[in-house]
Amino acid sequence: MKLYNPTKVYFENECLAKYGHEIAGKRVLILTGRASSKRNHSLQDVVDNLDVGAEVALFDEVESDPSIETVVRAARENRGFAPDVCIGIGGGSAIDAAKAVAVLLANDEGADVEHLFYAERNAAYLPVMAVPTTCGTGSEATPFSVLTDAAQGTKRTLLTWVYPQISFVDYKYLRTIPYRECVSTCLDALSHLVESYLSAWSTEYNRFYSTEGLRLFGEYKGFIAGPERFEAVDDAIREKMMAASMFGGFAITANGSSLPHGLARTITHAMGISHGRSVTMFLPGYLRSFEEQEGVGAVLRLLGFESIDELEDYLYAIVGCVRVPEGAWRDSMRQMLANTRKLSTFPYDATEDVFMRYEGKLFQIDREA
Ligand SMILES: [Zn+2]
Repeated sequence: MKLYNPTKVYFENECLAKYGHEIAGKRVLILTGRASSKRNHSLQDVVDNLDVGAEVALFDEVESDPSIETVVRAARENRGFAPDVCIGIGGGSAIDAAKAVAVLLANDEGADVEHLFYAERNAAYLPVMAVPTTCGTGSEATPFSVLTDAAQGTKRTLLTWVYPQISFVDYKYLRTIPYRECVSTCLDALSHLVESYLSAWSTEYNRFYSTEGLRLFGEYKGFIAGPERFEAVDDAIREKMMAASMFGGFAITANGSSLPHGLARTITHAMGISHGRSVTMFLPGYLRSFEEQEGVGAVLRLLGFESIDELEDYLYAIVGCVRVPEGAWRDSMRQMLANTRKLSTFPYDATEDVFMRYEGKLFQIDREA
């Protein structure tokens, strides 16, 4: 069993005000999206709590599912500024972008993409701070950075594992998150927790986090079951959402995600749907494909569902069905079957036949005539 995660996490209300002074940077590069970190005040909270006299550069053009081009551009524009710390504020996209830019800026210019994907696994990187403002990716607790490779039509994970040095997790930033975005991120967290729990590489360490995260999801699941229910979400529920997401991050750091995430890689890009939605559509089929259902039963009990059918009905009411053109689906399966690391997380043989049986209420194949 491996037990390693060096990220220091402050998980409490107003943690930036209390501990933001620990961000030891004289030249700080902040990476974020265009709007949400201004709306929820997280950007201002970071700036207000930096060292007096720290210089700040802002790159606020990180898109969702950030592209390789975006992080390369952010690094090029800020090489002259020479930051000594990168801070990602936002969802997984902003934090993942901060991790990638931290690698680029710690290495020579000129071979940028090589540093991201082909250089040695332990490339140097600048210290990264994370301020999550959504509740799905858990990127504040993982060393992973996933970027979109538009030319290849897929997503790719950075070779170097970039652990945030400090993560400031404050549920108050969820007060302004729109319903759809909250749902999508909560379902991503759900998938991390389930996949980690059921992985062939599962140990007591990741199950400790998954178990707690699944139990929390079971407590707040009703609140994301529709926009009206969502209006009743209060800070106590937001805190649970943030915790489940972070626990999912710790869990997948220990043993990685599994087949739904592998299948979602190309589909998300090809279909232009959110990461959370694309992993969710494979969950019921994935759960049914376990020959031994004991672990699946434990997951369902933690979530408060009687059966896979009941979980599927719950998810269907929230996200509906995604219809995937047969060609895109075949591409997705091909990529998945080439990913030996992900295949090894499934305790049985994963074949095309197994994946074809994923089709169901949440996911239908549009067959070519
Ligand atoms: Zn995910």
